[in-house]
Amino acid sequence: MSKITINTKTIPMLDLKAQHGPLNEEIKSALKDILDSSRFILGPNVSSFEKEVASYHNVSGAVGLGSGTDALYLSLRALDIKEGDEVITTPFTFFATAEAITYVGATPVFVDIDRQTLNIDPSKIEEKVTSKTRAIIVVHLFGQPADMDEIMSIAGKHGLKVVEDSAQAFGAKYKGRPVGSIGDAGCFSFYPSKNLGAYGDGGMLITDKPEISEKVKLLRNHGTTGPYQHSFIGYNSRLDEIQAAILRIKLRHLDTYNQKRRDIASLYTSMLGGAVQCPVEKQDIVHVYHQYTFRTNRRAEVEKDLHDNHVSAVVYYPIPLHLQVAFKYLGYREGALPEAEAAAREVLSIPIYPELEPEDARMIAGVILKTLKK
Ligand SMILES: *Cc1c(COP(=O)(O)O)cnc(C)c1O
Repeated sequence: MSKITINTKTIPMLDLKAQHGPLNEEIKSALKDILDSSRFILGPNVSSFEKEVASYHNVSGAVGLGSGTDALYLSLRALDIKEGDEVITTPFTFFATAEAITYVGATPVFVDIDRQTLNIDPSKIEEKVTSKTRAIIVVHLFGQPADMDEIMSIAGKHGLKVVEDSAQAFGAKYKGRPVGSIGDAGCFSFYPSKNLGAYGDGGMLITDKPEISEKVKLLRNHGTTGPYQHSFIGYNSRLDEIQAAILRIKLRHLDTYNQKRRDIASLYTSMLGGAVQCPVEKQDIVHVYHQYTFRTNRRAEVEKDLHDNHVSAVVYYPIPLHLQVAFKYLGYREGALPEAEAAAREVLSIPIYPELEPEDARMIAGVILKTLKK
C-alpha cells in the first residue's frame, strides 16, 4: 500500500494556545483583580456569569458548579431521583452521562441511537419505559441537538423529567431555542476542551424552574440554609471566581467561535460528502461542532494516513457505555444496541476549532479523499 505524505506540520485536535493568545491581557487583568480582592469562592464573577448564562439561554436560573458531571448529578438530586428509579439515556456518549445516574443510586437504561444524528433515537424510547422510569437524560452529542420535540412529548406522556446533557453543545440551537433550556434542566461542562472552556474544571446547571435552581444552589454548598445550618445532606461543588472571570470573557466570543467551527464543518462536508458519511444538519437546528465526526467503513486506513501526515484523528467513542466493564452489572450483551455498536466501529473525529486555518482543513480533507481512492 502506498504511503500518502502531503503535510509535515502537526495539526492537533484542538489548539487552546491559539484561542488564549488574543485574550491574554484581558484575562490577566481579571485575574489580578481577583487576587487583589482575595474572593475566590461564590463572589461577584460567579453571580455575574450565572446571570449572563441565564440570559443567553433565556431562562430564570443558572447555577455555577464544580464540573459538568456535578451538574448532571445535582440535577438528578434536585429532581429527587433515587435508588430504585430508572433513567433512560444514550449508550453513545462520554462516560459521565451514565455515571451520574449511578451516583443517586438509580439505574441507567440505554436506548439505541439514531444512525444519522448519533443521538438517542426517540422512536426506541417508549419500549424501554417501565413503572420505575423517572427521567430521560438526552445528550446533544458533538454539538448536534437531539430531537427535543419527540423527546419532550414522550416525557410528557409518561410523566418523565428531562435533563439535557449539553456539555458538548453550548450555543447549539433547536428550533431557535438554545439547547439546555428546553428540558427541566440543562447541564454544561467548562472542561478546557469544550466549546466554552475554562482554565480548569467547571460546570453549570440552567433551568427555568426556580424550585430546581434554588435546590441546586443549596446542594452545591452543603445544604446550607443559614450560617452553619444544614437542612439536608448537600455536596461541595462550586464554580470558582477565577474560572468564572475567564468564562465571562470567553462567553462574549462564543458565538463567533461556534460560527467558525460551523464554517470549517461546511468546508469539510462540501469536500468529503461523497466519500464518507458526514454529520447531518436537520432542518431548523444549529449544530456547533464540538467535534466533526464522520463515518466510514475504512476507518483504520483513514486514521493511519492522517497520523502519517501529522494530523490528529480520534475515535469518540470506541466502546458504547452498555459494553463498558463498569456497566457489566447491567447485563447488556454485544448486539443489544446495534446502532451504537456500529457507530463505535465507524466514527472518526478530525480537528475542528475556531482557529483552524481553512487551508489546513482542505489539506486534511484531501488526505482522507486520497486514502479512500486507493
Ligand atoms: C465533558 C462531558 C461531561 C462531563 O463534564 P466534566 O466537566 O468533565 O465533568 C459530561 N457529558 C458529556 C457529554 C461530556 O462531553
